[in-house]
Amino acid sequence: MDDYQHILLAVDFSGQGDYVAKKAKSLADKYQAKLSIIHVLDNIPMPDTNYGTVIPLAEDSEYPLLEAEKAKLMRLGDELSVALADRWLIWGIPKQEIINIAQQQQVDLIVLGSHGRHGLALLLGSTANSVLHHTLCDVMAVRLQED
Ligand code: AMP
Repeated sequence: MDDYQHILLAVDFSGQGDYVAKKAKSLADKYQAKLSIIHVLDNIPMPDTNYGTVIPLAEDSEYPLLEAEKAKLMRLGDELSVALADRWLIWGIPKQEIINIAQQQQVDLIVLGSHGRHGLALLLGSTANSVLHHTLCDVMAVRLQED
């Protein structure tokens, strides 16, 4: 079996996200793989800007909500030593954008939580379930329990 070369961590900044992030980091270290992170903005209104759905992280915007999300991603990226070019902040539908970036960036393992902001009602959350069913690469769903 080939080692993983490029791992994509999907973060929604919910309560147990740090635990999922640590698992992804430890796998990346173990396999000496590149680590990328993605956060999809699905819960704040899209401001009227010139740029498309991929948010440029190096530019400041005048939108406080956007800056707050950017700051969270930057903090996590720094903690995990992820290169700036491998931090993705994108507007859209989480499952779609996670799958798109994974394909575009030739990711071979996606790491996400079994559940996120959308609650523990299902055995596997809807984002996790959909990514698992529609991506071509491996997916690791880190089992999250109720707090
Ligand atoms: P869910 O299936 O929506 O309950 O979420 C399961 C997991 O999918 C979360 O623990 C995250 O790892 C990932 N995820 C959910 N929403 C997002 C998002 N907006 N951006 C990036 N990853 C997400």
